[in-house]
Amino acid sequence: MSTSPDAFEDFPARLAAVRERIARACAAAGRHPATVELLPVTKNHPVAAALAVARAGLRAVGENRVQEGVAKRAVCATPALAWELIGHLQSNKAAALVKGVPGLECVETVDSLKLATKLDAAVASAASSSASAEETAHRTVPLPVLVQVNTSGEESKHGVEPSAAAVLAQEIKEKCPNLKVAGLMTIGQPDYSSRPENFVCLAQVRAEVAKALGCEPSELELSMGMSGDYEAAIRMGSTNVRVGSTIFGARNYG
Ligand SMILES: *Cc1c(COP(=O)(O)O)cnc(C)c1O
Repeated sequence: MSTSPDAFEDFPARLAAVRERIARACAAAGRHPATVELLPVTKNHPVAAALAVARAGLRAVGENRVQEGVAKRAVCATPALAWELIGHLQSNKAAALVKGVPGLECVETVDSLKLATKLDAAVASAASSSASAEETAHRTVPLPVLVQVNTSGEESKHGVEPSAAAVLAQEIKEKCPNLKVAGLMTIGQPDYSSRPENFVCLAQVRAEVAKALGCEPSELELSMGMSGDYEAAIRMGSTNVRVGSTIFGARNYG
């Protein structure tokens, strides 16, 4: 992780540039900019990145690992800032995540009923525990979750097959009262500009999921698009772009 306290000096300018590009992509697609949320991804960056996001007044940050998210939340108890998990979650870590990240407002990566069941139980027990007021103040019950869909068919990617998303969404609705299916998430293949079909696929899956849940497609989020392709994703209907390196600079994995 980068440790320089000045590492995020240019954050406001980078953020403004991304917002400008989002606004332009929305305009080109005939969409209102308010229909797309920017989720800054702070993984592999120091907690200063999350603090910069909070200062800029954004709603939430995205983290991809439970341990890293819990550690940062412990030193960044900024009440207004929400946290989203965007990385793969092992079901045996669901409890640690919910307990360790007050202000957890979404798990974007639910891809099995087993995981959903563990998360559901963790939310239930956290809600009934004698946690401090500070801890419970930002606990969202039911916890919004997204169903992660593997739209590219790559084995290395997590997520359910597109054809299995509606069934999983319905099972979560029926069996997990402490979770709320808020939409769908995909990573897709790099270089979407030439391969938009992953994003088109997710938009199609949303229609099936909406039918299964008995809601309108527009009520479900589509989380797709990262630094390299968020403008393309917006054209395909993304409501949530997860942008890391364009805002915070390259991640140091060392
Ligand atoms: C790291 C990550 C991002 C952000 O990637 P950038 O290319 O740095 O914008 C978005 N989504 C997920 C799931 C990630 O793991």
